[in-house]
Amino acid sequence: MSAPRDTTARHRAPSSRPTGTPPASRPGGVEGRHRAPTAGTPALRRTGLAVACAGAALALIIPTTSAALPEASQTAVSVLAGAGRTAEAGGVGAVGSAPARPQSAARKTAAASAASNTAAEKAKQAARKKQAADRARAARTPQQRAGLQAPLSASTMTSPFGQRVSPITGQLDEMHTGQDFGAPAGAPVKAAGSGTVKEAGWHAYGGGNRVVIDHGNGLKTSYNHMSAIDVHVGQRIAQGQLVGAVGSTGASTGPHLHFEVFVQGKLVDPLPWLPGVAHRS
Ligand SMILES: [Zn+2]
Repeated sequence: MSAPRDTTARHRAPSSRPTGTPPASRPGGVEGRHRAPTAGTPALRRTGLAVACAGAALALIIPTTSAALPEASQTAVSVLAGAGRTAEAGGVGAVGSAPARPQSAARKTAAASAASNTAAEKAKQAARKKQAADRARAARTPQQRAGLQAPLSASTMTSPFGQRVSPITGQLDEMHTGQDFGAPAGAPVKAAGSGTVKEAGWHAYGGGNRVVIDHGNGLKTSYNHMSAIDVHVGQRIAQGQLVGAVGSTGASTGPHLHFEVFVQGKLVDPLPWLPGVAHRS
């Protein structure tokens, strides 16, 4: 509420009345609403006075408005404010504009209802989409969901996962715990998936320089016999990020990468987890 403007109106309005003109009979502004006033007519002057009076009355009442204002005083303020609005409507000659309000309100209600229908429909569509996505995800294999990629950009598959004759000891039923990839020494070894580095260092059981990455959901991968390690324990790593370099450290007969996949702590054949690799070699 702009008190200064009301004050100005209060002081100016009376002086604008031509001398000799009788004062406005009723400052309620009700008459002004029904007439089409022209400039300088008594109706307009009365309207001006009504606004001025309402302003003056408001200026007197407003300072008393506060949280502790008695209910009766609050009612007085709203009644006076209403009178002021009516007078202004009369001043612009808005004859017959009053009924437009209920129509406008009805339109607003209809629009709000339509908007809420649209929102409900959108929510239903989103729910259907989510259900479809959930079904698609459930239908995919765990390997596809993991989305691992080859740890080397160019490699040759050599010794597979499973029972074999040990190339080192000659043992007939050695369990080979990973997939070997032949690659030149120093070739970059990359993370098969994003995750956190769990081990990075010398492996006491033949892995040489070894890195283990935890990908979450019980899935881990290991990278062995490397000539260099480029990550540290606890490091967050992105898929394809450099882990180290191909080497022949630990129990190894030549430069290659021994790559392992753990599911819930159990070593499994890595190849099904690398769907892109089998086609390349
Ligand atoms: Zn191996």
